[in-house]
Amino acid sequence: MANQTRGGYNGKILRVNLSDGSISTETTDDLFCRKFLGGAGFVTYFLWKELNPGIEPLGPDNKLIFAAGPLTGSLLPGSGRNCIGAKSPLSGTIAKSEVGGFWGAEFKRAGYDAVIIEGKAEKPVYLLIHDGEASIRNASHLWGRNTKETRQAIRDELGDRSIRVAMIGPGGENLVLQACIMNGLYDAAGRGGLGAVMGSKNLKAIAVRGHKAPQIASPERLKELREWLLANMHLVSDEAEYGTGAPMKFWEANGNLPVRNWRDGLFPSVKMIDPQAIKDTIRIGMEGCFGCPVRCKKIVRVEEPYAVDSDYGGPEYETLAALGSNCGIDNLKAIAKGNELCNAYSLDTISTGSVIAFAMECFEKGLLTSKDTDGIELRFGNDEAMLKLIELIAKREGVGGLLADGVVRLAQRIGRGAEEFAMQVKGLEAGMHEPRLKPGLGLGFMVNPHGADHNCNMHDTLYYAMGPKLEELKPLGILEPVPRDDIGPRKVALFRLVQLKEIILDSMGVCNFLPYSYEQLANATAAVTGWDTGIMEQLRVAERILTMARLFNIHEGFTAADDKLPRRYFQPKTDGALADKPLDPAKMEKAKSYYYTLMSWDAHTGVPTPERLEELDIV
Ligand code: SF4
Repeated sequence: MANQTRGGYNGKILRVNLSDGSISTETTDDLFCRKFLGGAGFVTYFLWKELNPGIEPLGPDNKLIFAAGPLTGSLLPGSGRNCIGAKSPLSGTIAKSEVGGFWGAEFKRAGYDAVIIEGKAEKPVYLLIHDGEASIRNASHLWGRNTKETRQAIRDELGDRSIRVAMIGPGGENLVLQACIMNGLYDAAGRGGLGAVMGSKNLKAIAVRGHKAPQIASPERLKELREWLLANMHLVSDEAEYGTGAPMKFWEANGNLPVRNWRDGLFPSVKMIDPQAIKDTIRIGMEGCFGCPVRCKKIVRVEEPYAVDSDYGGPEYETLAALGSNCGIDNLKAIAKGNELCNAYSLDTISTGSVIAFAMECFEKGLLTSKDTDGIELRFGNDEAMLKLIELIAKREGVGGLLADGVVRLAQRIGRGAEEFAMQVKGLEAGMHEPRLKPGLGLGFMVNPHGADHNCNMHDTLYYAMGPKLEELKPLGILEPVPRDDIGPRKVALFRLVQLKEIILDSMGVCNFLPYSYEQLANATAAVTGWDTGIMEQLRVAERILTMARLFNIHEGFTAADDKLPRRYFQPKTDGALADKPLDPAKMEKAKSYYYTLMSWDAHTGVPTPERLEELDIV
């Protein structure tokens, strides 16, 4: 691919083979960038093109890809993000995970748009990318260290406190299938077990430092968008004041909050663990990602009964629910400690909390006994057990080894009907939002190529009354609200457009908490790249990326039968607002089929039609 100058891109992909130590650079052209955009688009393209079906996710044939978008590291608030992907060891599907912090922006300044890691190093190594130069370095002395120690040691060794580090802790090294990759100490590429892939390659970290951002085609136009955001900060005032999860008490009342492995609805002590409680008790500040004025990251400090290191940030909503209400735990300090441990060990808090909650229900039902749990009384609400299990999972010790392969494998080992309440789709534990309240989100859990992902998804409660979320859809023909509990064709069409927007954001390298409209995102892409682009082109790119991800999974043997929710969502909660409101399986199946139709995939099998592939130029 011949290189051309365009804004927003370095035009270079770094390829590193850890088996033979080779490092090479490839260039990208305008057409490639325009077809796949960057971030999630680049990750999906290279995984689809380069991985043979059936490879072992934790073997040397898997590839681990880090990609920035054309906006990553730009003036636009919320543009500190990058995407990481591989074949998931947790699900066997394509995995991609978005992450904030500062690593992505630094990586862009170091001269590349993506790095493809191949093979497996003989001994632990880390990769240094510094102003266009890459080198593989010994990391034997770092193996076994937590993320904070690792970052510090790399910074000390290189004599540069501004080095940004993406890394794994012992969770990734021990191939825990819920292991994540940490950008710094509190931004996680959490989903799909990417930390285990990194560990399987003996790659401890990727350290980046750079001084040259790619040119921007129209800085003035981008500045206008930045000024619009600064003038409209009231649209993100909750996130700025409380971080994620500000409405957590309301979510308990309306049924959105998972409680005791998604079984129950009521959790009155939510007020002890919600972001207001955090602000009133253990919060000592707020931090943000690169260039973002929202600063939604909670920083907490606890001194007793155990110390919680403020360098590891504080719990996001997903963590408060996963380690808190879904485990029946209302001890905020314990949740903050659990969050610190997960970040130090590089464990995804959602999947880790989910497997603990699932094990707690198995214990309650007698499917696991204290003989299986090394004597731990694994009951809902037992905060000490939750903390102990995080340590054991990270080290794969004792009962931790049983839980370290995720909910699906644990359910298979236990048998006796445990699958019925294993809350996952395609092996990925569900994000902490309730499909029985939000059937459109449930459809997203079913059909997202990565499994039960709450991010690349819609939240039905934002679309049942006119507001900014619906206003931005008017140019796309959605002119009226859609009832929250609707899962007919109007909701499916709405879901598809929202899902496509998420793919656009993930490919541009922009955070989905920022209230940019479809039109503003297209404008931002035009401002950075210089392309005369618009909404329609962006939607088409997103359709191309989603269809490639679908093909990847089909080649791995996944079918429409795998696009299914766990049985519990078709049962009522035991109490609370959703006590008589299970999902209707027939309606969800119909919605799935209509979604396939809208994507121009076969309505029954979900296989993209040959015409669709030709139209999207997927070959
Ligand atoms: S809104 Fe929060 S997560 Fe998103 S870029 Fe800003 S600080 Fe980061």
